[in-house]
Amino acid sequence: MYFTQTFIPTLREVPADAVTASHRLMFRGGMIRKLANGLFAYLPLGLRAFRKVERIVREEMDAIGALEIKPTVVVPGELWKESGRWETMGEAMLRTKNRTGSDFVVSPTAEEAVTALVRDELASYRQLPLTLYQINTKYRDEIRPRYGVMRAREFVMKDAYSFHADEAGLDAAYTAMGQAYRRIFKRCGLSVLAVNADSGAMGGSSSEEFMVESDIGDNTLILCESCGYAANVEKAVCGDDFDPPPSLAEAEARAASAPALEKVPTPGVKSVEDLCAFFKTDGAKCVKTLIYKGINAESGILSGREVFFAVAIRGDTAVNEAKLAAAIGASEAVLADEADVARITGAPVGFAGPVGLTGIPLIADRAVTAVHDGITGALAADFHYVHAAYGRDFVPCLIADLRTVKAGDRCARCGGALYEKKGNELGHIFKLGDKYTRSMKARYLDERGQSQIPLMGTYGIGLDRTLASIIEEHHDDDGIIWPLETAPYQILLIPVSYTGAVKEAADTLASALEREGLEVLVDDREERPGVKFKDADLLGIPYRVVVGDRALRLDPPQVEVKRRGEKECLMVEINQAPRFLSNLFT
Ligand code: ATP
Ligand code: MG
Repeated sequence: MYFTQTFIPTLREVPADAVTASHRLMFRGGMIRKLANGLFAYLPLGLRAFRKVERIVREEMDAIGALEIKPTVVVPGELWKESGRWETMGEAMLRTKNRTGSDFVVSPTAEEAVTALVRDELASYRQLPLTLYQINTKYRDEIRPRYGVMRAREFVMKDAYSFHADEAGLDAAYTAMGQAYRRIFKRCGLSVLAVNADSGAMGGSSSEEFMVESDIGDNTLILCESCGYAANVEKAVCGDDFDPPPSLAEAEARAASAPALEKVPTPGVKSVEDLCAFFKTDGAKCVKTLIYKGINAESGILSGREVFFAVAIRGDTAVNEAKLAAAIGASEAVLADEADVARITGAPVGFAGPVGLTGIPLIADRAVTAVHDGITGALAADFHYVHAAYGRDFVPCLIADLRTVKAGDRCARCGGALYEKKGNELGHIFKLGDKYTRSMKARYLDERGQSQIPLMGTYGIGLDRTLASIIEEHHDDDGIIWPLETAPYQILLIPVSYTGAVKEAADTLASALEREGLEVLVDDREERPGVKFKDADLLGIPYRVVVGDRALRLDPPQVEVKRRGEKECLMVEINQAPRFLSNLFT
């Protein structure tokens, strides 16, 4: 391909909103252009790199026996009403009506569409296991699209769905998919980390996310120095930094010898920090109580579209809202607003406490069970209780792990020190169990002719985000340094000036390289060599081959070969160059 015949509008300037390397370089390198916030067009060069990632993903999916399909992007709203997600998906899902007033959804993901497809065809256990995948457009009305295609509104996902007759089959598919993901990211030149993840709105039992470490990552990862434990903070657990939780009887016995509960005036003391300063104590002695609202809760403790409850947590720890939502089977847990807090607790924000709280359920974090001489809000403005004891002065209806793990906490597996890193999620695999197949009434007949509900797994990779992450991991100050397998072209041929003998030699060499099966871009622009070299560094095509007057006049004539990212150049005989270069790609 000749530069002047394709469309690679390179730029020197950077748009003001491009704060990340990948966004800047994709823009400057003429790979993408912005149509609107969160909507990007790929130009020819960007699309070539995108297709490389797509090819890797497709090859690895095919290699584990997943079957490619092409469902539609626009899906009937009815299917989402069947699964129950019409209500729970929220504003991220783009909904529309057609001319007759029927509801439609622009797919943010496709569990519903694929479950419906399989439901209508599935009859017998003999058809299972079955793994289907698509590489297709998704739309999510992200509140804050950012970092270019890294978090866009429209993007392409490889999403796969597996269907099984038993747990063993689901386990096998889940494992195979995880291994395929590792191969995909390795081929893309990405160092990924698989972490335990929260199943969130997707539902289901276990899930892993594939993360790349990144300063711009939206996720906090909790990692163990010693044993390799790795989890998204949404899901991370830590070892107790106190003895195992006491039984209620033990707690009552312990509290019997504690000083009696006492209500003391604490004017203007609201936060845990204020409390610690006022009582000259530390947060581990305080019980913080927060009023929450559970959305679409479904559990023995709480159920309803919007239900209020209180959460007691030790003052030196923070509530993990993902764990909290999971504990009450809610799609979301959000802090109640000031008016609701005042109505429920009878006191302004800052004075809620578990002692004497009535009317709403009290849920406590495990660590609260260790508090037998604590300080807590007294449900009255400017008052706190001291000597509050779990088991004597308050008894929660549910005790669960609700704590946000942080650096310095102890690993639950080995006791080692935990530390934090920022990560960006590239892929996510879930075991869903029968969440969708049950609600959407998928059935098959087993060997004994009994009707059964198939189990399901779901597995996604964002292609655009993967592409941008490759650039994040492979660039320098001058531009991109493409790994061989994802480069938009393999060779950038630069005739120092595209005229006379140099032009002739460059054209002949380009054809010879293409005959070797190499992907060649010839910079035939009428630009100074300095400009071409700068753009060569910007575009990051793995091998730069320079055809110049002087080297051509050598006997035998030579060209200069340089690998992007390396300093040294190599002189190669022009006739040997096609073979030499093609060997570098095998
Ligand atoms: P995030 O937490 O980053 O919003 P998610 O957990 O909602 O992502 P999934 O539903 O697990 O995403 O989707 C699978 C994959 O799709 C993600 O791992 C990611 O690579 C990609 N993806 C999700 N949202 C976007 C987006 N807005 N732009 C680009 N890629 C995305
Ligand atoms: Mg995810």
